[in-house]
Amino acid sequence: MGIIQTTPTGEMRDNKTAAPHFGGEAVLVHEQETMKAVQITAPGQMQVIRVPMPHCGDDEVLIRLSHVGFCGSDLNTYRGGNPMAKLPVIPGHEVGAVIQAVGNKVPDVLTVGMSVTVNPYTACGRCASCRNGRVNACEHNETLGVQRSGVMSEFAVLPWQKIIPAEQITPKHAALIEPMSVGFHAVNRAKVTDIDVVMVIGCGMIGIGAIVRASLRGATVIAVDVDDEKLALARQIGARYTLNSQTQDVHECLQAFTGGFGPDVVVEAVGSIPTYQMAIEEVGFTGRVVCIGYAKSEVSLSTKLFVQKELNIYGSRNALPADFRAVIRFLNTHAFPIDRLITESVAPEQAAEAMERWAAHPGKVFRILVQF
Ligand SMILES: [Zn+2]
Ligand SMILES: [Zn+2]
Repeated sequence: MGIIQTTPTGEMRDNKTAAPHFGGEAVLVHEQETMKAVQITAPGQMQVIRVPMPHCGDDEVLIRLSHVGFCGSDLNTYRGGNPMAKLPVIPGHEVGAVIQAVGNKVPDVLTVGMSVTVNPYTACGRCASCRNGRVNACEHNETLGVQRSGVMSEFAVLPWQKIIPAEQITPKHAALIEPMSVGFHAVNRAKVTDIDVVMVIGCGMIGIGAIVRASLRGATVIAVDVDDEKLALARQIGARYTLNSQTQDVHECLQAFTGGFGPDVVVEAVGSIPTYQMAIEEVGFTGRVVCIGYAKSEVSLSTKLFVQKELNIYGSRNALPADFRAVIRFLNTHAFPIDRLITESVAPEQAAEAMERWAAHPGKVFRILVQF
């Protein structure tokens, strides 16, 4: 494995908006031939392996991973319940990193030392979604760490187009941009405005993203979960009302909160049978329902309500570059208790134990980050 050429370290510009430098001087740390990576070997089995250092081509960027988040899809893969993932696989698509080196043909908007995240999706350019410009829903999408090898490793090389500058956001916090973008995208799908009452079912990472963006757009937000701590956070970041669906009567509360109209928009961010049924039953007449939760089984729904209420039902998948930009802008310009979304940050060697804790208490975890 040859030495990878690095470009000179980008000079900090004088103006105050210049991206801060997060280290990663162009030293040849990657003279090393192998690097650490986390691998899901078999259901319930995860280990640290050594893999060859990737080589950075002309159109590519070498990033040094700072923090990589575990997504719900990684948990499913670990449990052996993700049909899209073939084991063994290196997981990881929620990325906070620092640029270590850039190839010769990479535009100078990307410089060594920048805090960045990654757009982990691919688009084939040929399917109906791609033809319609909705590349986030590409029929042949291969998300890093799901349908193809991910980046839960010390370094990674990616096409420069997939690298997204995180501006002032630290590499640790940058690992939360992608999952928040998914929630942001859902709110955009329903074209939420200030006159909407938006009910978000599920206050995990994705639901939190939806609550934030619906609040940013001036909507009145009702957050629903079964965990009071998550609901407290939801209130702190913008939900006007919160509802514990285990201890409160959802229908009665919603009627009271909405003056009997029901919510204009319901975002389903859980993916279970009762929450999908709740979404369809509780949404107001002529309302919109956005489906992000990935239900593993078929759900029986009262389709007459689709007709009677003249509902708009939207699927929402992944996120578009504009959604990433919106999250980055939000995190750069608003005080937000982002550390509360990080349940724990562990070494690669402790990743398996952290996964076990998550599997045992799925409702208690926002994000587990692996720190390199
Ligand atoms: Zn994810
Ligand atoms: Zn496509």
